[in-house]
Formats: sequence, structure tokens, C-alpha cells
Amino acid sequence: MSTDLRELSTMLPSWLEASRRISAQGAVASYIPELQHAPSDALGIAIYSLEGHTLEAGDCSHSFTMQSISKVFTLLLALIDRGEQAVFDKVGMEPTGDDFNSMLKLELVEPGKPFNPLINAGAIVISSLIAGQTPAEKAERILAFIRRLAGDSSIAVNESVCRSESRTANRNRSLAYFLKDNEVLDDDVEPTLEVYFRHCSIEVNCRHIARMATVLANDGRDPQTGRELVPRRYVQIAKSFMITCGMYNESGEFSIRVGIPAKSGVSGGILALVPGQLGIGIVGPALNGKGNSIAGVHLLKQLSERYDWSIF
Ligand code: GLN
Repeated sequence: MSTDLRELSTMLPSWLEASRRISAQGAVASYIPELQHAPSDALGIAIYSLEGHTLEAGDCSHSFTMQSISKVFTLLLALIDRGEQAVFDKVGMEPTGDDFNSMLKLELVEPGKPFNPLINAGAIVISSLIAGQTPAEKAERILAFIRRLAGDSSIAVNESVCRSESRTANRNRSLAYFLKDNEVLDDDVEPTLEVYFRHCSIEVNCRHIARMATVLANDGRDPQTGRELVPRRYVQIAKSFMITCGMYNESGEFSIRVGIPAKSGVSGGILALVPGQLGIGIVGPALNGKGNSIAGVHLLKQLSERYDWSIF
């Protein structure tokens, strides 16, 4: 069933305001000090159809850093650069059920390979697989890729968020040293983390996220030009990970209640898509206990129920 966009555009502002009230029950992330300044009651959504309809409501211009949403795109770029086999030599294909920055499972399996590319350990390994001679070159290639998918060449790294994360990243550093010790990470720790912090700090708004999501909803083709930006097979892999691990250890519940591929970030962004129909970008900085935008998840649940979006 295709979504009734006329009704959706009329109803979206009031649904958004109802979800915004839920923000009071969440909390803005503060473990990266720069992130704690985000307004806790902000909520914005952009929904773009593959035919070119654009629906927007709330704080669509509010900018935020991609954080873990960027991991979907570094995975895609690593697949493009290295191919499937080289990527899956280094990261697994399974959800963990643990927090995104957990070290637990790295000690439980041999040879300490991260379970998937969307947890921090996996994404750090993926950062090292991006083609480029230097960390700066790798980070530039990721930025160029994201600019191309979002259709905006002015997208840039938020340097203060990047510095803030780097200064306080004791846990990610420990993960990276652990991976290095296990010989899963070939590059050195600091240059790899530099790439990782830079892609997490790419600053966007929910329109950019919606635009990128339409490319995934369209199996890797730019919906406007029809040009292939990502091979369909790699989009298939990314969407599978989004279903099984995209919402951290809330992915199972999200699949049951919302049922569409999605990826969240700790600054409150969510990228979601209805395959063949819609790309969705959301920002709502107040997070629930699992680290996902509390109002964003609430809004997606309402919309999915109303328009029967579940792919299952
Ligand atoms: N940059 C963040 C970190 O490494 C990304 C985590 C997230 O968005 N969940 O902690």
C-alpha cells in the first residue's frame, strides 16, 4: 500500500507536536561534552518520496552531527572500496544485544572480530578499511561520499564536536587498542580513530538525512537522475544491518513496532526508509534508555502503524 501523502502532509505537524511532548521523558547525551548543548525538546522530520514529494515538519533546519548514522555510509564506502569478502574478513554479520560501545563480546570470540559494522568496534575497523593514503584522505573521501548522497557539497565536519569526542574517547580508544592487539585492526589506533571521529562529526539536518535515505530506498540510485550511486547488493547488506542492529539493542522491538530499516545516532538523528517509497530523516536529541531519540521513535511508530509501513 502506498502512503497517502496528502493526508500525511496535513497530519504530520500535529503528530510531530504530540511526539515532541515525549521528549521530556528522555535525556540528551552528555558523554561527548559538546553534544549536551542540544535543545532537548527539538524535533524535526523530513519525508521525501521517490517521486520527489517533500514533506517537512518541526525543527527541520536544526543541525546535528551524524554520529552512528555515518556508520551506514562508511560501511557502504568500505564495500565499494574493498568488496564484500575483505569487509567480512574483519567484521561479522550478527547483532550483539549489547550496548553500542560494549567490549564484552570482543573477549568471547576468536579472533576478537567485532560482531557487526554498526557497533563502535565494528565501525572503527571499517574506518581503517576506507581507501586512502592518510587519515585525512580517508576522512575526505567519506565526506565526499556523504555530500554526493545528500546532494549538498557544503556539508562539513563540526570541528568542535570532533575535538570534544576525541578528548573524551577513552572507551573508543580502549576498543581500538583491543582490536589492534587482536590483529583485527591493521592500521594504528590514533590515525584510525581520527577517521572515525571525523565521520561521526559530519554535520547535517534531517533534510540531508531524508535525501540520503531516498537513495537507499531506491536501491542505491539517485531518485532524481536515476544514476547508480551505490551498487544494489551493498544497499541490501546495509538495510539488513539496519534491521538487525540499526537501533542498537532496541532493534528487535523497533522491528516489531515500526518494521523498517533505520539507523540512529547519539545526537538524536534517525535515518529510516520505506523501501521503494520514502526516505525519512528525523532529529530529536532527547534519547531513551537504549540511546535512540525518544520522540523520534515514538513518531515513527505512529506513522508506521497508520500507513502500514512494516516490511514484514
Ligand atoms: N561517535 C559516537 C561514539 O563513538 C557514536 C555513537 C553513537 O552514535 N551511538 O560514541
